Amino acid sequence: MTVKVRFAPSPTGRIHAGNVRAAVQNWLFARKNQGRFVLRIDDTDLERSTKENEAMIETDLTWLGLTWDERYNQSLRFDLYQKAADYLKASGRLYPAYETAEELDRRRKVQLSRGLPPVYDRAALNLSDAEKAAFEAEGRKPHWRFKLDGKRMMWEDMVRGHCEVDTTSMSDPVLIREDGAFLYTLPSVVDDMDMRITHVIRGEDHVANTGTQLEIFEALTGLFDAPLPIFAHMSLLVGADGEGLSKRLGSMSVSQMREDGLEPLAIVSHLAKIGTSDPLEAAPSLEALIEHQDFAKLGRAPARYDFDDLMRLNAGVLQAMSYADAQPRLAALDADLGELFWDTVKPNLHKFADVTDWVAVVQGEIAPRIDDPAFAAKALELLPADYGRDSWAQWTAEIKAATGAKGKALFMPLRQALTGMDHGPDMGALSFLIGRERIAQRLGG
Ligand code: GLU
Repeated sequence: MTVKVRFAPSPTGRIHAGNVRAAVQNWLFARKNQGRFVLRIDDTDLERSTKENEAMIETDLTWLGLTWDERYNQSLRFDLYQKAADYLKASGRLYPAYETAEELDRRRKVQLSRGLPPVYDRAALNLSDAEKAAFEAEGRKPHWRFKLDGKRMMWEDMVRGHCEVDTTSMSDPVLIREDGAFLYTLPSVVDDMDMRITHVIRGEDHVANTGTQLEIFEALTGLFDAPLPIFAHMSLLVGADGEGLSKRLGSMSVSQMREDGLEPLAIVSHLAKIGTSDPLEAAPSLEALIEHQDFAKLGRAPARYDFDDLMRLNAGVLQAMSYADAQPRLAALDADLGELFWDTVKPNLHKFADVTDWVAVVQGEIAPRIDDPAFAAKALELLPADYGRDSWAQWTAEIKAATGAKGKALFMPLRQALTGMDHGPDMGALSFLIGRERIAQRLGG
C-alpha cells in the first residue's frame, strides 16, 4: 500500500498555524513513508474562495518547503460529486428537504424548550410526491440531506486511539444546498475515495464529521472501490495561557510570519513538535523532522502554541545556519562581511534581518558608551598597534594588570565603548572585526 495523504485548505483566507500544522503533519507522514502528498484546494464555496488566496497557499507551502506531488481543485470536480449524489439519491440515502432556515430554526427552538435535542426530525422523508410538487410550484428548491443509518461509528485513530461517534444523536447532514452548491462533506469523502487517500490527518474539530463521513464512505463503496482511510485527529492548539488560540496568534498567517522575517524551518519545527513528547527545538533540516515523525508521540491534550517558543526556535535555526546558506541572504541585505562575521554574530540574532545591526557595529556609526573616561583612556593607551584575531586576550590582560579591573568590571566597559551595547557576540572576534582604527575612535582616540 502506498501512503497517500492530503492537505485540504479552503482558499477563503490566508493559512495560519492551525492549518499549517495539519499540512506539516501530513507532509512529514507522507515523506516518512515514501508516500504521496496531495494538495487539494477545497474551493466548493465559489463565493468565498478566491484565486488570490489559492495562490498565497501555494506560495506559503513552497516557502515552508512542503512540496506536493499532486494538486487538485474541487471546483473542477463537480461532475464527480454529482455522480456520487445521483448514486446516493438512487439508493435512497440522499433526500430532498424543503424547510427554510426560519422553519428549521423555529423547530429547533420548540425542541429545546421541551428539553429535546435539536436534531432534524426528518419530516421531509415523509413528503408525498404531491407535497413535493406543491413546494416546487411555490418556487422552493430543495436542499439535500444524507440519511444517517444511526449507528455507532468506530475507528482506531492514530492519535486518539479507539474512537466512537454515535450518529443517532446527529441531524442528517445537508450535503447539497438549495442553490445546488455542494457543502464540504460530500466532496471531501468523494475525493478521499477517488484519490485513494490512505490516511486522513486533520484537526480534532473534525471528529464528529468523521462519524458522518464514515457512513458516507460506506454508502459509496458500490461506486468507488476504495478502502476506508485511517484517521488521525490532532488535538487543538491553545495559546501560551492555555486558552484557545488568541486572536493575535490565531490570525497570524504564514504570509505575515514570512513578512515578519521568521525562518520557515523554525515554523515547521515548531508545528511538528508542539503537542509531542519530543523536545521543542529547531531541527537542523526538514529531513531530520521526517525521521522523527510518529503519531504515537502526539498526545490528546491540547498543544501549546507559544510565540516565545517559536522565537526561540527561530534563533536556533539562525544559530545553526552555515555561512554558505546565509551568504546569499547576507549579500541581499548588503551585510556580507564574510564567514567570521556571520559565525560571530549569528548566536545573537532573533531574526535574520537583525544582522544589519551588527554590520553597523562592525563598520558603521554607533554611539559608544563610556561611563569612566579614565578607564577608556587607559585602554586606548594599551591598545596593540597591530590588532589581530587573538589580540583581545592580550589587550584585556594588560588593561587588567594596569587598572586592577577584572571580570564584568573589566569587560563591560569595553563592550559598551566598542559596541554601544551591554550584550552581544564574543568580543574577541567582534573587536577584531571592528578593527583597530574604529576601536581607537570609540575609546575617544
Ligand atoms: N477544508 C477543510 C478544512 O480546512 C478540510 C478538512 C479535512 O481535512 O477534511 O477544515
